[in-house]
Amino acid sequence: MLDRSHLKQKFGERCLFDEPAANFTTYKAGGRAEVVVSPSTTEELLWLAGWCRAAGTPFLVLGRGSNVLVSDRGLPGVTALTGRLSGITVGDGWAEAQAGALWDDLARSTAEAGLGGLEKTSGIPGSVGGAAHMNAGAFGQETFDRLASVEAFDRAGAIVKLLKKDIRHGYRRAEGLDGLTILSVRFELQPADAAVLVQDRSCVMAARETKQPLDHPSAGSVFKRPPGDFASRLIDAAGLKGRRIGGAQVSEKHAGFIINAGGATAADIYALMQEVRAAVKEKSGVSLELEQILLGEF
Ligand SMILES: Cc1cc2nc3c(=O)[nH]c(=O)nc-3n(C[C@H](O)[C@H](O)[C@H](O)COP(=O)(O)OP(=O)(O)OC[C@H]3O[C@@H](n4cnc5c(N)ncnc54)[C@H](O)[C@@H]3O)c2cc1C
Repeated sequence: MLDRSHLKQKFGERCLFDEPAANFTTYKAGGRAEVVVSPSTTEELLWLAGWCRAAGTPFLVLGRGSNVLVSDRGLPGVTALTGRLSGITVGDGWAEAQAGALWDDLARSTAEAGLGGLEKTSGIPGSVGGAAHMNAGAFGQETFDRLASVEAFDRAGAIVKLLKKDIRHGYRRAEGLDGLTILSVRFELQPADAAVLVQDRSCVMAARETKQPLDHPSAGSVFKRPPGDFASRLIDAAGLKGRRIGGAQVSEKHAGFIINAGGATAADIYALMQEVRAAVKEKSGVSLELEQILLGEF
């Protein structure tokens, strides 16, 4: 049994019990997390992971919850949210950000400082840690293009510093970071005209507005892009645009997104994911691979 009082004593109002996933994920759906803690310092995050290890309690780290679906049965143990670890430092040809910094704050501040390489990823609504974990990207740029090194701690609590060349990664994956809790990421960037970068950033943000259903809760693209094609095109071709199960719906605006159209459960969203996969497989023979991460029991 988890000793909640100890965590409450240490973290006060930054420790919440039975917190609905709607409050810490962008799908705004799913069950309750047993304990949610928001550490304010790296030391607190390390302490929390150590405490969980000693107590035999599951420990999960999340940034903005913008790429996950939490089961209706909830999350056991401790979920750490990194949002308060949000420092960003921009230097001469480089930038360094703590794991909980909003990715878009990094994209904006580097563009404004005349450092190119992240501007096309503007508007990704996750954290720096989440972006590195997924090798998030958009419009031809991805996190690892400019990533130089990652500071993290491993399952035993030991701090490690990894250089890009030592981290196995690819399209929307970074296996080399599996099992690590990311503390900060350093980027090497290309000096460029700030006005041009800021303009590029505006164009990308406008394209997102036009193409994506930003007026409804979602977790972005449900599936990875299959080689040589687009998941959204295949889903559209399978006649699934607008298909609804409970409160979950394949977006009419962008068939690659499932939106919470109102009161969706995680089971609704999951059932729709399964239906889409099956229909695309039947129609075009392509097996779509999930980009989003399922947390808890499905
Ligand atoms: C409207 C919308 C648009 C989107 N557009 C894009 C897009 O263009 N491109 C794209 O790639 N994605 C996109 N996404 C998906 C999502 O924003 C990205 O994958 C983002 O990088 C996830 O970051 P996060 O902090 O929300 O991660 P979370 O959802 O909190 O976590 C995702 C995974 O990362 C792990 N993680 C998080 N922080 C850490 C850490 N500090 N250390 C170790 N592991 C960690 C978690 O354990 C989990 O496994 C979009 C989402 C939405 C809602």
